[in-house]
Amino acid sequence: MSKSIQAIRGMNDVLPADSALWRHVFNTAAEVFGAYGYGEIRLPIVERTELFKRAVGEVTDVVEKEMYAFADRGGEEIALRPEGTAGCVRAGIEHGLLHNQQQRFWYAGPMFRYERPQAGRYRQFHQIGVEAYGMAGPDVDVEVIALSARLFKRLGFRDLTLEINSLGGKEARAAYRAALVAFLERHEASLDEDSKRRLHSNPLRVLDSKVPTTQAIVSEAPKLLDYLEADSLSHFEGFQQGLADLGIGYVVNTRLVRGLDYYTKGVFEWTTRQLGAQGTVCAGGRYDGLVEQMGGAPTPAVGFGAGVERLILLLQAQAVNLPSAGSQVYFCTLGEAAEREARKLAETLREQLPGLRLVLNAGGGKLKSQLGRADKSGASLALVLGEAELARGAVQVKSLRQSLPDQELALSELVARLPGLLPAA
Ligand code: ATP
Ligand code: MG
Repeated sequence: MSKSIQAIRGMNDVLPADSALWRHVFNTAAEVFGAYGYGEIRLPIVERTELFKRAVGEVTDVVEKEMYAFADRGGEEIALRPEGTAGCVRAGIEHGLLHNQQQRFWYAGPMFRYERPQAGRYRQFHQIGVEAYGMAGPDVDVEVIALSARLFKRLGFRDLTLEINSLGGKEARAAYRAALVAFLERHEASLDEDSKRRLHSNPLRVLDSKVPTTQAIVSEAPKLLDYLEADSLSHFEGFQQGLADLGIGYVVNTRLVRGLDYYTKGVFEWTTRQLGAQGTVCAGGRYDGLVEQMGGAPTPAVGFGAGVERLILLLQAQAVNLPSAGSQVYFCTLGEAAEREARKLAETLREQLPGLRLVLNAGGGKLKSQLGRADKSGASLALVLGEAELARGAVQVKSLRQSLPDQELALSELVARLPGLLPAA
């Protein structure tokens, strides 16, 4: 045997046992987003590398260290998308959807970042997200939070914390950045290596360092909220008022920053303690400058991305069980004539009973081994059609999960009677 080929590190298969959970998350998200009038936008997974450099920022970890970027066969510099917002803005501008218009979009799909794989952190991961364009007021920030809260409630999560902060506008942030750099320089010797590097490239990121010694220093640092200009302050107040009106609890975390450069004003994260270090399940905020920076007309915007793998881990941690999507009925056949008849009958059943999950035995075998396959398939009923049954125009029904006597049904009444014999879903 030759050596088998394995999946790339950090890129996972989702096997049938878990895919029901995945579908549940995507379907629930689509329903909730639709309930707020958001329309799905489907975007390419590959874009020009330049798009992410300009949107996400040259000196961010995502662009500097994590991007899957390469030249294609024509020499074009392209990248697998590391996040969804850049492509959404690009498409919005390209199709003229953003100019003087209000737009509400949602998207879902794989993202790629060359990170160190660990629980809750992968190289191919999935995000579901929303973006709202053309609305400057805090009412829309509140709307996207309400929508995310509803999604998490529908998924059954009870212990999520909403953390919010405001990053202010460009000028406030520049003033704060200067003050922060001055403060951090005084403590430079005690900072961890990553933070020393970020001190000059992306100093705000030092604020959310996970290194305890750096955290201790940072807790004494100047606070962004003290630097906010009047406009950002009133926006932040409106944001908090709106959350309070809807009874959505939150904590202000003055050290909350985002890893992508485009954020302004309100930012937020939904976090859990149940997933260890990878506790942020959803993150987002306002990015009023990005559309213009990407070549569109000035357009305010707000959005978030939620990590699907982390949502799934949380569902599993909370032991959320879904009805299995295995088979309900396994059709055993004995003899060639019965097998041919059963193949037609199976098609009729699937045609007449939409939603029925029926596996038709393939590859022959003795009844015993067919019933073994039936058991493995998860079916609750086995149908058995042999030469004798065929001659009588009947089929045997065996209950696989309950100790009920076998019964015989006329082939002609099978469509009508079968649903009544299956356990309620
Ligand atoms: P982190 O601080 O965890 O690296 P981030 O700030 O890089 O997160 P965003 O770019 O804001 O994350 O992405 C939004 C969400 O997508 C995150 O909150 C997380 O749930 C999920 N996410 C981000 N990177 C990964 C990854 N490598 N693997 C799995 N999920 C991820
Ligand atoms: Mg990251």
